[in-house]
Amino acid sequence: MIMRKYLIGLVIALGIILAGLIIVFGLVLNGTITRQTFEAEKNEISIPTAEASALPTQTPKKQIVVLDPGHGKDSGNMSEEDKSADGWVLSTEKGGWGEWRHWKSGTVWDDCRGSGCSGRHPDGGSCWYPIENGDRDIEPEINLNNTLNAKKYLEEMGYEVRLTRNSNDENPSMTKRLTYCYSGGDTSTEPDADVFVCIHSNAGGGQGSAYMALSGVYDQSGVLAPAEYISESNILGQLINNQIVSDTQLSAFVDGRYEGFPTAVLFCKSPVPIAYLEIGFFDNASDLEVLTNDSETIGRAIAVGVDNYFKTKSN
Ligand SMILES: [Zn+2]
Ligand SMILES: [Zn+2]
Repeated sequence: MIMRKYLIGLVIALGIILAGLIIVFGLVLNGTITRQTFEAEKNEISIPTAEASALPTQTPKKQIVVLDPGHGKDSGNMSEEDKSADGWVLSTEKGGWGEWRHWKSGTVWDDCRGSGCSGRHPDGGSCWYPIENGDRDIEPEINLNNTLNAKKYLEEMGYEVRLTRNSNDENPSMTKRLTYCYSGGDTSTEPDADVFVCIHSNAGGGQGSAYMALSGVYDQSGVLAPAEYISESNILGQLINNQIVSDTQLSAFVDGRYEGFPTAVLFCKSPVPIAYLEIGFFDNASDLEVLTNDSETIGRAIAVGVDNYFKTKSN
């Protein structure tokens, strides 16, 4: 009798389990229970884990490189509005458009206007730099091509790149070009650019590539002591020029270091380390061939040279 009682209980229990299975099977068939019913729970569990592991990792600051393709639109083709918009000033005393070579000693963004400055200038020059002194044929386009190629490679390497001009139809003053050293061009703040790289090509009877060396007294206020400003700038120029000479058919002009122009406006006014490259001579036939056909390699060499500079700093 006892055995029979258990058997009846077992049959009822199996019947309930079978009924349950039939109900679940029915729900799966009509779509009430799907794979997502369980996945949703899994996702809810994994979300807090992902957030917790993402928190400690910060994106490292991108280093900022200002690339400055030298020269631009011929000043003879610029209207007064063009000149003014591009940062040039009209001086009745000097009889035309130009810009001041220095800041007042110990300041930035306060033009010397001919006094209260270091007074350093090239032979035959002055505190005033006339706009027409920057007019060039051919060179603006060569400089822009090399610059755009350098930008491409630097961005591939993870740098933030700012250009001082984007076309050959503009010609910013040196002073205006330096505003790209600041976030949003706000010169009342500290400069956030790491380096400023001027990209030029030479002329006047020579061959090969060189960087223009800084030397002597620079008295603009800024983030670096004057001696460090000079040494950092010259290391940057040398590393880039070395890379150009090793990667292209261009030779080194005067051992790659040109001493003759330490009073350049950009050297006297830059708030960050600055390299000034004279890449080949565009009035030399074989250099011009390299400049015309091998801008890609030149641009890559500029990028590698800049990258080498930051590697020497991180060691
Ligand atoms: Zn001056
Ligand atoms: Zn030039």
